[in-house]
Amino acid sequence: MDLSTPLAYVKGIGPQRAAQLEAKGLQTAADLLYYAPFRYEDRSNVKPLSALAPGEMATALVEVREVHTPQFKRRDLGMFEAVFGDGSGARLTGKWFHGQYLRNVLTPGLRLAIYGKVEFDSYTRELTMLHPEFEILRDDGEEGDASLHTGRIVPIYEAAGKVSTRMFRTILRRLLDDLPPLEDALPRHIRQAWKLPDLNTALRELHFPAPESDLRLLNTFRSPAQFRMIFEEFFWLETGMALKRGNARTEMGIPFELNDRVREKIKAMLPFKPTTAQKRVLGEIARDMASPAPMSRLLQGDVGSGKTIVAAQAAVIAVENGYQAALLAPTEILAAQHFFYLRKVFQPIEYPVALLVGSMSRKEKESVKQLIESGMVPIAVGTHALIEQDVAFHKLGLAIIDEQHRFGVLQRRALQAKGVTPDVLVMTATPIPRTLALTIFGDLDTSVIDELPPGRKPIQTVHKTSLEIEQVWSFVKREVDAGRQAYVVYPVIEESETQAMKAAQKAYEELARDVFPTLKVGLMHGRLPTEEKERVMEAFKQGEAQILVSTTVIEVGVDVPNASVMVIEHAERFGLAQIHQLRGRVGRGAAQSHCILVTDRMNDAARERIRTLVGSSDGFHIAEIDLKLRGPGEFLGTRQSGLPAFRVGNLLRDQEILELARREAVAFVESPPATDELDQAKRYLRDHWQRRYGLALIA
Ligand code: ADP
Ligand code: MG
Repeated sequence: MDLSTPLAYVKGIGPQRAAQLEAKGLQTAADLLYYAPFRYEDRSNVKPLSALAPGEMATALVEVREVHTPQFKRRDLGMFEAVFGDGSGARLTGKWFHGQYLRNVLTPGLRLAIYGKVEFDSYTRELTMLHPEFEILRDDGEEGDASLHTGRIVPIYEAAGKVSTRMFRTILRRLLDDLPPLEDALPRHIRQAWKLPDLNTALRELHFPAPESDLRLLNTFRSPAQFRMIFEEFFWLETGMALKRGNARTEMGIPFELNDRVREKIKAMLPFKPTTAQKRVLGEIARDMASPAPMSRLLQGDVGSGKTIVAAQAAVIAVENGYQAALLAPTEILAAQHFFYLRKVFQPIEYPVALLVGSMSRKEKESVKQLIESGMVPIAVGTHALIEQDVAFHKLGLAIIDEQHRFGVLQRRALQAKGVTPDVLVMTATPIPRTLALTIFGDLDTSVIDELPPGRKPIQTVHKTSLEIEQVWSFVKREVDAGRQAYVVYPVIEESETQAMKAAQKAYEELARDVFPTLKVGLMHGRLPTEEKERVMEAFKQGEAQILVSTTVIEVGVDVPNASVMVIEHAERFGLAQIHQLRGRVGRGAAQSHCILVTDRMNDAARERIRTLVGSSDGFHIAEIDLKLRGPGEFLGTRQSGLPAFRVGNLLRDQEILELARREAVAFVESPPATDELDQAKRYLRDHWQRRYGLALIA
């Protein structure tokens, strides 16, 4: 038996349980070994009931004697009680509020281990435990030694189908005993520097902590064994990332020339003075572009910080060197926005810009493709249509990808495959918390624009309930009378753009007819044909409409500096990042801007989101809270998020270990104590972690 043995062949598991374990993603002996308990209980204090004292945390081995469901006159609390005995003469009653479901579980005669805080009920004069933890004891010989489950610090596992926490204990005990000692691939000098236990010790301690272990450390995942396992997981990921970055540096890309002519062009194009942050970031990008190695850079910045213009500057460098630049956007509307923006930006230097999106007619597409292929247009903007198989670039030198985390890694590669080895600049409109940036974009170098263009007044955000909507409308009216414009946005409900469209449509009719009969109101949603969308946006931009009712299609990219009010209806239904993005549509001009979050009934999570938004306009802070509220998977969107499946590590909990692992990994790859140690590590990485982490081809 070794680490790769399928679980069906591990003693004591068999095909049925193996199937249930597989449903939880556990396929091999290694998977099981790295399946960490999520909690530990100190059951070393096992006592007969007669020896229990009120106030202590204790474990007792008992039998269910009788059960009750006491009725209360005024209120049904669904109380469930079980009276336990153990032959010591004493009794103890377990009590559960809303415990009716236990009626079929805790039947008289059943033997249990119970664990909890002993209390004394002065009214009934009996010992009680409120909501004790319990485990059913069976004599089916399948559970191994009873000492696994009591009389020690006991690991608690998340069950997998019918595989209970007890079975996990039994199986893992056996596995740990039967498995030959494992090779510890973590470099020795790192283990020594951080006093990490070796792999075999760590695995044993992870599952069966020694009696003297610190329970508090265990339950905060900071015992030496847990720390090592978490560190190891992050270390291999970051080593893989560091190797990938290193490989990219030795690849042949394009050494773009940065001469005075290029600088002059950039200057001639710029419509305003760049901020210090923009200058710094352009410097970082330009350095990458000038180097012969292909650039892989992530450009982060809060909404409105001016990322697009920096990307446009980078495009000038490529074009002046005789190459093309492509900008990829996640949605058609955003692609169209970028197209209009870039067309305007490049007017002074007369660069033609092409737009290619899926909804264009075949004939239109054909002619645009022709332009791209012949090299007639230096700049192409589009959705994924731009990287479909049959689009060929004449000479692609720079690929700018907006909103990367909605794009798959594969698409990035597909685009890269279109050029020689184009430089790649990834822009994200949603700030990404550092832990996520390190894990999903760990192979990219990072630039951050941490400064807003001058003259921006912070947006004032307020919360109103739908009962106060009249107030909101009169506020909007006043702003419009003062020459401003306003957005009114409706959410996409449960991913159904159709419903949102209907809500927006209905609101549009009411607002246009009843609320603002003297104003011009526009309507925008995802189902409009591309030209219609463009027409509506253009009309709003030109000030022909004062109010734009929309679904969230305007979430990113829309840029109308005169718009100063953003009303978000049903704000309780939007995600944090989404509202922050929407809010970024205003506050782009000199006027004081306002964001009004209108809500109906809210649950706690929604209240927390609204509070966060009213209290902060810092995209990075909001992203951190968002990550905490939703967890990494949801935060990134489940589809193709590129998030590695960690087994022990947890990005929310283990940020400092991730940082440490990254530092150690970078130092190790850059200056390993001996080259054969690095070679060894590469082999280990390839055999054990590459597939899991989707780290393509570490040579
Ligand atoms: P982002 O893409 O980062 O959300 P944009 O690139 O859309 O931000 O920029 C927001 C707005 O600010 C645009 O109208 C842009 O032209 C303007 N802008 C960007 N940089 C500056 C600057 N340095 N000075 C003045 N305006 C700027
Ligand atoms: Mg380069």
